[in-house]
Amino acid sequence: MEDAKKETKKDNGVPHIDQAQKELMQNLAKEHGTPIFVIDHEKIRQNYKEFRENLPSVQAYYAVKANTDSQIIKTLFDMGASFDVASLPEFMIVHKNIEKLPDKERQDWIWDKIIYANTIKPIDTLQELNKYKPLVTYDNIEELKKIKEYAPDAGLVLRIRVPNTGSMVELSSKFGADPGEAADLIVEAFNMGLNVEGLSFHVGSQCTNFENYVQALQLSANIIREAETRSGHRILILDIGGGFPVKYNKQVKSFKTLSKRLNTEFKRLFPSDMQIIAEPGRFMVANACTLVAKVVGKAFRDGKPCYYINDGVYHTYSGQVFDHCNYPVHAFKTGEKQVSAVFGPTCDAFDTITLSAELPELEINDLVYSENIGAYSHASSTYFNGFPPAKVVHINK
Ligand SMILES: *Cc1c(COP(=O)(O)O)cnc(C)c1O
Repeated sequence: MEDAKKETKKDNGVPHIDQAQKELMQNLAKEHGTPIFVIDHEKIRQNYKEFRENLPSVQAYYAVKANTDSQIIKTLFDMGASFDVASLPEFMIVHKNIEKLPDKERQDWIWDKIIYANTIKPIDTLQELNKYKPLVTYDNIEELKKIKEYAPDAGLVLRIRVPNTGSMVELSSKFGADPGEAADLIVEAFNMGLNVEGLSFHVGSQCTNFENYVQALQLSANIIREAETRSGHRILILDIGGGFPVKYNKQVKSFKTLSKRLNTEFKRLFPSDMQIIAEPGRFMVANACTLVAKVVGKAFRDGKPCYYINDGVYHTYSGQVFDHCNYPVHAFKTGEKQVSAVFGPTCDAFDTITLSAELPELEINDLVYSENIGAYSHASSTYFNGFPPAKVVHINK
């Protein structure tokens, strides 16, 4: 217990599951088998509240790709969240919740509730989306031509390219119009008879360098001013994207610090009637999920104990590959720790979770867990080698 307390203090705000939750996780593993991916809906609600309390002028559009679980979407929908989707199936998952609303509210609500924030949309998707008169992003002229032909009733948001310096996942090489071309792309859209409603950017995922946001806001303010002057139309939506960092370790500065910075810049750079929205993904779900797996094999190789567990990088630990994020493996058991390797269950050496876990000696059937594993993890699980994704278990729903 003393050790646990010391560790928590030293970690300075890094979220950990407490003793009671550890017991709960072991009981859930007994009840459901392993591997299980436990989603704590109370933590999701807390994250949403924390976001809105620190950024009261910003509506949160949860980026569904971080974790597409439909129960997470329902929990956030019930809290009043909106959603960022990037494909037609994601759009439909969210829309299912909107369909339950009274007739009158549905269409009025669509922009308030969903932004389709993938700048590249297949033609058949545009055709299907048009009947919803959606809000969609774009960042190039070819996309504008497609929208004009196949989804002319959409409202548009231009995504610009901004510095992603130091972010864990870089996005600026794939998306965003060059700031120098941005005003032209807005004027061109109006000339084509389309409506540009807003400007958006993404500073890169897990953005711990807050200057990225400050620079992006300054660029946006300049572009909006120029586009408004040249087109004679007002740009009313500012979409500051995602990137809000999770405290995976104590080096990450707090969300409060970032929020203060953002609120100051909003006041300084934008008129008070600007509708500011954001697309937090990771921030809403990362600390809400815990994976529990089981030791299914044990060996001694290269001078250290090696544990083979029944989840790996083709499954819940997929974030280690796609998200560049490392998830420490912990034991429920206590005891003297030694450097150990932990491997996933498939017949691929690539399926290595870590070569340097600090673990007490474990036996076959002992349970291990990884916390803060809710974002970009279960969502990109595969069925490789016949091993299915971890079973999802919901708590505090
Ligand atoms: C992935 C993504 C997000 C979410 O980013 P986080 O870093 O998880 O907050 C938001 N907007 C767009 C367009 C994205 O592609």
